[in-house]
Amino acid sequence: MKVGILGAGQLAKMMALAAHPMNIQTRCLDPKTEVCASAVTPVQQNDYTDQKAIEQFAKSVDYVTFENENIPAETIDWIAAICPTAPAKQSLLCAQDRILEKSLFDTLGIPTPGYRQIDSLDDLEKAAEQLGLPALLKTRRFGYDGKGQFLIRERAQITTAWETLGKENLILEQFIPFDFEVSQIMVRNRTGEINYYPLVRNEHTNGILRQSHAPYINSALEETAQQYCKKIATHFDYVGILTVEFFVKENQLTANEMAPRVHNSGHWTIEGSETSQFENHIRAICDLPLGSCQSRGQATMFNIIGKEPLASEMLAIEHSHFHSYGKSPEPNRKVGHVTVQTNDTITFSQSVEKMTLYLKD
Ligand code: AMP
Repeated sequence: MKVGILGAGQLAKMMALAAHPMNIQTRCLDPKTEVCASAVTPVQQNDYTDQKAIEQFAKSVDYVTFENENIPAETIDWIAAICPTAPAKQSLLCAQDRILEKSLFDTLGIPTPGYRQIDSLDDLEKAAEQLGLPALLKTRRFGYDGKGQFLIRERAQITTAWETLGKENLILEQFIPFDFEVSQIMVRNRTGEINYYPLVRNEHTNGILRQSHAPYINSALEETAQQYCKKIATHFDYVGILTVEFFVKENQLTANEMAPRVHNSGHWTIEGSETSQFENHIRAICDLPLGSCQSRGQATMFNIIGKEPLASEMLAIEHSHFHSYGKSPEPNRKVGHVTVQTNDTITFSQSVEKMTLYLKD
């Protein structure tokens, strides 16, 4: 069996590594030249708008999937005419646009921060009045890791925020003074079978995920998070891994965003769960039975941002597993992650503490 992956970053690399033991071959297509998946799987360099190359790529595989949301709708149509693609195109289009995403949450009765579409400075002035400040001005599309966001604390910042974010296609969101953040990851196959990973508690700094802790035990929150995910997955007749990120305030969930793909807050599943999110994504899109999402003890995943520390020093900490993405150092760039995982609760806490201290800037 052959799976084509659009995009060839670390998510594609980890999907390729998960596919390999099942004798599923992968190949990627990416517009960029320097991509980390090329260390483990063939990668061809083409633009997503190159119809001929995209069609040839689709003909060379049995299934196509995506590792990021920034794929044009037309590209998906070209592929879907040749071979099965998953997740559903509509879920990708929805995740590409924060207005579509928020209105889907509204339609499905999933709580989300108050928001307004912003197409002019006048819209922004009015929205700031209606929603109140502080509020977050965000680009509707192509925002990630806190990029394309401006926290407006007072009215005097409105014009600067409007100019900084490019004066078009924006959304203003109510600022949620959350207690903490969680994500719910699930997998669904073509027959509608669903497996849920345990709830994950996430820590972000400056909009970038730093740590994920799993399982986060809170059965009431988990049940609600799973119901919300199921509504989204059923709506799209979804196939593959789906992630929804939530804010938690006074034990209530507010959905921030959804990701129709494997997700950074699920990297802990490589060591910490019976079947990793990468393996389950490949299984789902290839019509194979899904694997158990049960966790094997406790796990904390630390993102490595900017520059890789020495593997020898990180791995000297008990229960740690290091994943390098083979990327050159750059400020705010995710260059790898390390997961501390074990079912021994005492040594787990000690190792997490050591790793936290070690990775401190
Ligand atoms: P996003 O790119 O929308 O996922 O935002 C990245 C991070 O910024 C989130 O994980 C939160 O930590 C923070 N953030 C985003 N939107 C809001 C909001 N409406 N209220 C409070 N914090 C937010």
